[in-house]
Amino acid sequence: MTAEQLSFGTDVGRLLDIVANALYSNKDVFLRELISNSSDACDRLRYELNTNTKLKGNKEEAHIRVLVNTDNRTVTIIDNGIGMDREDLIEHLGTIAKSGTSAIMEELKNSKDDKGALNLIGQFGVGFYASFMAANTVDVISRKIGTKEFNVWSSDGKTGYTMDTATKEQQELIDQSGTVVILHIKDEASEFLIAPKLQEIIEIWSDHIDVPVYLGRIDEDSDEVEQPINAASALWTRQKSEISEEEYRNFFLHLSMGFKMDEALMTTHWKAEGKIEYTGLLYTPSMRPWDLFDPSRKNAVKLYVKRVFITDDCKDLMYPWLRFLRGVIDSQDLPLNISREMLQHNPVINRIRNGVAKKILNE
Ligand code: ADP
Repeated sequence: MTAEQLSFGTDVGRLLDIVANALYSNKDVFLRELISNSSDACDRLRYELNTNTKLKGNKEEAHIRVLVNTDNRTVTIIDNGIGMDREDLIEHLGTIAKSGTSAIMEELKNSKDDKGALNLIGQFGVGFYASFMAANTVDVISRKIGTKEFNVWSSDGKTGYTMDTATKEQQELIDQSGTVVILHIKDEASEFLIAPKLQEIIEIWSDHIDVPVYLGRIDEDSDEVEQPINAASALWTRQKSEISEEEYRNFFLHLSMGFKMDEALMTTHWKAEGKIEYTGLLYTPSMRPWDLFDPSRKNAVKLYVKRVFITDDCKDLMYPWLRFLRGVIDSQDLPLNISREMLQHNPVINRIRNGVAKKILNE
């Protein structure tokens, strides 16, 4: 079967052209974006498996692997997260749905030169599309949990992309579910084929990520043990005194989901003990989020239960006037298999909401 050729949504080509050629001061961000996406995918799988008993999930622990192949000039990022089916690939990687990126698109439409868009890219980030800073072609192989198909999305980041079914060899990279992103590294980005360089980036950006990230080489003995690079500890569960400013800052960038703001005005990290127990790590951004007044704007505070991600869309968790906060609330009192419906009008959530408001006002 031959691959099907599809076009990008309006203006994606122009955006990608800017991204690919951006004299972006920090090209490393592409790896941070991809590892962030993989870690979110692992979180979402854990949640699905906890709530949907029909699903048979990966038996393996969640992990992210970064593999370098200097012969083929590829860097491959593999996760065993929730995966994407054909529709997901088209919707998430073929069009621009993400709010931060839409702002960049608006800027592109309204202005003649690309300066404004470049500024916005610096501010918001472009998520997955940052791949094209380092790669001239990107292949994404994915299998969504609960489905049988393996789909391959492939693009040179110019006009469009192809969709195909995976070869046997490609299928072997994924077990029950997950995503493989293969970056075909550009000549001018050869530094990313050097393992110690990747290790450095992963160390800087991924330490707070809850999923272990391994680094390995494809072209060497297959029994070489890949080393976990990051501490894989949920940052908020650690003692305040053991966390450096840099770690807090990197975690803020990770949480900011494409809003790459430079720093937080205030960082509030505390453990509430008493009738209900929870840990909060909340950041007050220094810039006003551009979509603050958008009523459909999601809560930027993620809810965890005993370190397991539950949702980033729990409306009752924050008072509307505190919706600018970003961060994590990790509850000890809710059950792990709590469904989104059960979160509505939940007494534990209501208590947390009041506790958070008090804490923030006190600070
Ligand atoms: P963002 O992560 O900020 O939403 P991206 O452009 O990085 O924006 O990704 C767009 C969407 O594609 C994600 O929200 C997610 O739904 C999907 N996606 C990207 N990478 C993965 C992955 N490794 N596994 C599953 N889904 C993914």
